[in-house]
Amino acid sequence: MKLRTKIHIFTTMLMLVLIVIVNIGVYKLYEQLSIDTEFKQLVLRGEELVTTFNQFQEVSDPNMVLRTYIPSNGAIHVINDNGIQITSVESPLYEPVEFQNGSNEQFAIKEVKGIPTIMIELPSIWTDGNVVNFQLIQPLNDLAYNRDLLKLILIAVTILVAIPIILSNMVLSSIILKPLDKLNQVMRKSSTSGTYEKIDESIAGKDELAEIGRTFNHMMEALETNYLKQQQFVSNASHEFKTPLTVIDSYAKMLLRRGFTNEKIANEALSAIVSESNRMKELIEQMLELAKNKEHVSLNIEKINFSKLLENITLQLKQAYNLDFELQIEPSLTINTDEQRLKQLLYILLDNARKYSDEKIILKTMVENDYVSVAIQDFGVGIQEDQLPHLFDRFYRVKEDRNRKTGGTGLGLAIAKELSDLLHINIKVESEVNVGTTFTLMVPINFSDRNEVDSQ
Ligand code: ADP
Repeated sequence: MKLRTKIHIFTTMLMLVLIVIVNIGVYKLYEQLSIDTEFKQLVLRGEELVTTFNQFQEVSDPNMVLRTYIPSNGAIHVINDNGIQITSVESPLYEPVEFQNGSNEQFAIKEVKGIPTIMIELPSIWTDGNVVNFQLIQPLNDLAYNRDLLKLILIAVTILVAIPIILSNMVLSSIILKPLDKLNQVMRKSSTSGTYEKIDESIAGKDELAEIGRTFNHMMEALETNYLKQQQFVSNASHEFKTPLTVIDSYAKMLLRRGFTNEKIANEALSAIVSESNRMKELIEQMLELAKNKEHVSLNIEKINFSKLLENITLQLKQAYNLDFELQIEPSLTINTDEQRLKQLLYILLDNARKYSDEKIILKTMVENDYVSVAIQDFGVGIQEDQLPHLFDRFYRVKEDRNRKTGGTGLGLAIAKELSDLLHINIKVESEVNVGTTFTLMVPINFSDRNEVDSQ
């Protein structure tokens, strides 16, 4: 059964059941209140009758007195101590109803042929001085008539109300489910055509269904972007591998042809093969790093001496490449972070500064509120402004650098971006061609604090 039909049936049934319950309640209440009123009036009548009998002990014709108090269409029976009827008076339209005599039941009600009949018994002194019970019986014809009329009215009201309820529920369920139908159609189209379809209607509102539509569109956008990025990545990767493989292939062939007779050529070929295979190794390592699922990496967050870390890194690079560093580092900066990953990030940026400049490199720290900013400034080739937004894309290399012998892969900054996201570090770049480049990292002092704020 379709969800639309289920909702329709459920809400309609629920409303109808509620209406029927309310109507039955109204009917029963009316009936009970009316019977109570009739009982009270009959008791009053009976009490008056008893008073009359008590006042006039010497009643010559008791039946005449009884007749004065006869309920409309009813009867009065006089019953002695033994439960035997001594006398009775009945109105001409009275239809006899059997009540148990002398059962000490003071009130009773019986329904005969659809007409409720009430009875009360009151004790009194009879003309002969004995105690008797006056049994007053009254059929409630008016009540029966009104009750039937009310029943008809309530049935008619239920039917009249049911029609708009059924119609409105039909409209309501289709209003609710229309966006879901649309969503279903779009999803089916996406899965059969392999495209990333989006919903174009009913997403402008503020309700939950419009929210689902928007979330769906965002999800599709994210999937499409990821798919395109993946495609781009695969085509870039194969392109990047092609160059070193071609170089290795041609040098290996040259080595086969002439390498055994010419030592110079053999040396040239072998060093080219070694260099290109190293480049491929580096490329593969970087690609593996990027392929790691960053969602599930576990960080080793600990308190570290940031100033010491910066000093050590620069010292190592100074020794390896004979670089000129100018350090403007505040002493004893302590932060909470994953030391190894932060080191990896700093290496990438410092290595770039080294690769793309021959001048000194300035490393400067500054404490600002809840983070330490670290600026890595070089005075090298710089980057054109229009290239800056793409710098962190995978395999992106500034055009001029593609032909340079720096031998980059274009993956370093993509890894740097992922590492900085992982460590909640904000990364900024400012550059001017032929003046230099400054990468600034905003490193949170307390990683976990930032983390909690982020997740709030
Ligand atoms: P690569 O391995 O090519 O260096 P990166 O992702 O690290 O890859 O850098 C991407 C590009 O950004 C580089 O090709 C280079 O052109 C440019 N770049 C990165 N850092 C600097 C810098 N400090 N100065 C000038 N250009 C830079």
